[in-house]
Amino acid sequence: MAGTLLEGKAVAERLKEGIASEVAALKGRRGSSPKLVAVQIGENASSAVYIKNQKKAAESLGIGYELKTMPAGASQAEPEKLIRALNADASVTAVILQLPVPGQIDAKKLVNMISPDKDAEGMHPQNLGRILLGNFTVGPCTAMAVMELLESTGVTLYGKEAVVVGHSEIVGKPLALMLLNKFVTTTVCHIATGERGLLPEHVKRAEILVVAVGKAGIVKGDWIRPGAIVIDVGINRVGDTIVGDVEFEAAAAKASYITPVPGGVGPLTTAILMRNTVELFKAQVKG
Ligand code: NAP
Repeated sequence: MAGTLLEGKAVAERLKEGIASEVAALKGRRGSSPKLVAVQIGENASSAVYIKNQKKAAESLGIGYELKTMPAGASQAEPEKLIRALNADASVTAVILQLPVPGQIDAKKLVNMISPDKDAEGMHPQNLGRILLGNFTVGPCTAMAVMELLESTGVTLYGKEAVVVGHSEIVGKPLALMLLNKFVTTTVCHIATGERGLLPEHVKRAEILVVAVGKAGIVKGDWIRPGAIVIDVGINRVGDTIVGDVEFEAAAAKASYITPVPGGVGPLTTAILMRNTVELFKAQVKG
């Protein structure tokens, strides 16, 4: 393997150190701390892991954390009522809706109901709009984690050629805007790019490649431009193992930096959620 492994854990630890001292300083100056409330409707194995990590991270950083649970059969009106109450509660400074939610629940409506001032995941249209305007402090955790990993390499992003594969609202689209804000020349590929068979030719140009599709090995190792930075966001279960969207070994032989899956982007997302929580709190106490 030629490429340097870009592991999220080390970057997350550095971020958390900064967050912990910021929270302590805010407490000293203001006498209060941020508090994140997670809303979970029904149960789900992957959100259970994420919730456990959130609680552990919040506690270690001096951030208050509370989990509000609702039964899987809850009506739409029930979480709506809870979110209205959390928006109105001054002791709650940030709110996250755990996804996925049961089928009868309109998750987008709930996310849009969370006050943009308390939107820990940076998914409210107002916060997404701030990314478009290049003036934001909170943003979708996975996209922010990718930017953090890219910046951790120390490589100049300005003027580089990036290709983002996948244009979801939580990863590809906000990430493309964040890259544009850094003057990265950014191409976004999606299902229609794949259907026309154009993925290889776009990927081959990428000095920075980010893949967030959810299809194991969709990006072949021999498409990787020599020296590219490769960030693989995909998480796919294949038999008993978890793999990414990029053929790892072959890609690593050509990349300058590459994220492992698991262990790349994933470990950073909780740290970014905590940073979002602190940024929201800072804006609230300043306001
Ligand atoms: P998503 O909402 O399903 O989006 C997948 C994207 O891939 C869509 O934009 C889709 O395009 C595009 N796509 C599908 N087939 C394609 C093809 N053949 N060629 C090019 N593009 C194609 O998924 P997501 O939520 O963004 O997540 C993507 C992956 O990242 C998943 O594996 C997920 O588990 C993982 N993930 C990891 C983390 C982490 O912390 N590491 C966090 C979030 C997500 P259309 O919309 O046009 O169909």
